[in-house]
Amino acid sequence: MEIKEQEKPVEQILKAINNKKLRVVGACAPSARVAMGEMFGMEVGLNLKGKLVTALKTLGFDDVFDLDFAADLTIMEEAAELADRLISGKNLPHLTSCCPAWVKYVEKFYPELKGNLSTTKSPQQIFGAICKTYYAEKLGVEPDSLFVVCIMPCLAKRLERLKAGINVSRGLDVDAVLTVRELGDLLKQRNIDFVNLADTAFDSTFGMASGAGVIFGTSGGVLEAALRTLSQRLNKNSIKHLDYQINRGLDGIKERVIELDTRKIKVALASGLNNAKILLDRLKAGEKFDFIEVMACPGGCVNGTGMPLYPRDFDKTPLVKKRAKGLFDTDLKSSIRKAHDNEQIKNLYKVYLGEPNKDRAKSLLHLPERKN
Ligand code: SF4
Repeated sequence: MEIKEQEKPVEQILKAINNKKLRVVGACAPSARVAMGEMFGMEVGLNLKGKLVTALKTLGFDDVFDLDFAADLTIMEEAAELADRLISGKNLPHLTSCCPAWVKYVEKFYPELKGNLSTTKSPQQIFGAICKTYYAEKLGVEPDSLFVVCIMPCLAKRLERLKAGINVSRGLDVDAVLTVRELGDLLKQRNIDFVNLADTAFDSTFGMASGAGVIFGTSGGVLEAALRTLSQRLNKNSIKHLDYQINRGLDGIKERVIELDTRKIKVALASGLNNAKILLDRLKAGEKFDFIEVMACPGGCVNGTGMPLYPRDFDKTPLVKKRAKGLFDTDLKSSIRKAHDNEQIKNLYKVYLGEPNKDRAKSLLHLPERKN
């Protein structure tokens, strides 16, 4: 499929909905649920996932799943990969890879660090891969008969699905990406009264997610989510601290030495590419880290370019903070806060994926290792 065709994802999605041979499967990023309400004059930072499910079903989607389920899979794979790297000492520091703009930045400006990027796919691409394999098999249909749509915070996510080697199906694993803003505009065009929609639960196959999956949408969330599961993998016992709270702000570089019982690891995060550059230059100058999270947008996906539009000179900082708080509050209230405690995730590994970073999980949920 050519990139050009994807310049009109709304038309493509509506065409797929009207095609009786296709089953349209959607999923909403964590950042989408705390921002969509702004387009309809609602309070900033409210977690409106139930309304989003109803909205997509009203448009004609057949299934609506929780992308946070796929984020839990990303956490499982990334923590297993990081544990292996810490044990072997290879490809450290481990660099997160769930933000395609950041990945592109490393590939272009720091090619000598490409091999340090995690091979684990982003939640969007893991969702596509698992839909076009496991879910198609479960339904007894051809993968091509599923049209997979992700509601995401930026256009970089639209390009990510076209990356060489990322797809496991014959076509694209994710057929279309709609930004939060595009979906909000579509709902308005269709006169769907988002404010007064009732809540609907996610469809059950991929409907359960941990609080760790939820915080993927904000700066510091990926690192924190991965540490919760890494701790369990390295120590084989319950972790003492659920909230590492390395960074819950918008700006800068944060770093810390984390004690995981007998092991100490040095972690850092950079919010925005300007800060990433500073951190990478420190690395090149010889500083040592074990694990680094970078999100290209200051504050993470809650500040993506595909989110609700404001005038150019409008200070969005308070809004972005409220969106992030909405995600962290959801995590705090979650009954499951670690990806490895999610029963649906455990079952998927048992019946289909095998061991994290091995078996079928390795071939479906990872990119080939990049060479520096
Ligand atoms: Fe997109 Fe920004 Fe999130 Fe990166 S941090 S995935 S560029 S919204």
